[in-house]
Amino acid sequence: MTRTAVVTGANRGIGREVARGLAAQGMAVILACRDADGGRAAAEGAAEGAAELAAADVVAVDLADPEAVARCGAALADRAVDVLVNNAGVLHRGDGLDFSAAEIEAAMQSNALAPLALAQALLPGMVSRGFGRIVNVSSGWGSFTEGLSGPLPYAVSKAALNAVTVKLAADLPPGVKVNACCPGWVRTRMGGDAADRSVAEGADTPLWLATLDDSGPSGGFFRDRRPIGW
Ligand code: NAP
Repeated sequence: MTRTAVVTGANRGIGREVARGLAAQGMAVILACRDADGGRAAAEGAAEGAAELAAADVVAVDLADPEAVARCGAALADRAVDVLVNNAGVLHRGDGLDFSAAEIEAAMQSNALAPLALAQALLPGMVSRGFGRIVNVSSGWGSFTEGLSGPLPYAVSKAALNAVTVKLAADLPPGVKVNACCPGWVRTRMGGDAADRSVAEGADTPLWLATLDDSGPSGGFFRDRRPIGW
């Protein structure tokens, strides 16, 4: 049986590598990208190592726009999606508490509310089919245990994404698993060139969570396939 997976922010970085990995395992992959052209370029091999994505579908969605997210969720709900990887994220850089309400709202929308809305759109189908995997790509910077050490909009929005993870998992039947992960510090546009991990290393834990078997965990927060503190 061919599973169908949606990966947000799949045009580059960790998301593209997760999408590539899921396609390599035989899943039908839908690349949910802000810019459809960028998504198609990722799928059509304009970027290195994209052969597995040649058959991927592309949907355009700007996660910063709640109406666009709702439209995308409704369209995807008709496609029997088994796996949702909420990977896309935004990082507003800065220090201290000096961030505007607009920056905080933008981070909350893209990093927490849009992932929740996509999950809400897809969960009824997952529950009725008795199978689902939702992976929220969060960050140690959104962990209370690790000190919420990221810039304020990012830390608070990723902590909210973690809360979404716990709440969804608590209210779902066993066949539908919801987990969060931190990919570590990864060499992407967000992570920068100095980061200590490759995209393949960063994609490993989200890929593992997206492909959990029936005995796998739900409602957890993982880095390097091991639980970490909320
Ligand atoms: P990246 O290379 O900067 O990619 C970010 C992705 O998110 C891009 O595909 C981007 O699309 C997409 N995105 C951002 N805003 C969007 C919006 N409004 N609508 C649709 N897509 C949007 O970052 P990355 O490092 O791969 O990050 C992936 C995830 O890992 C993020 O959730 C991030 O917070 C998390 N993470 C990363 C690190 C790290 O060190 N890299 C560490 C901890 C957690 P565009 O190309 O259109 O901008």
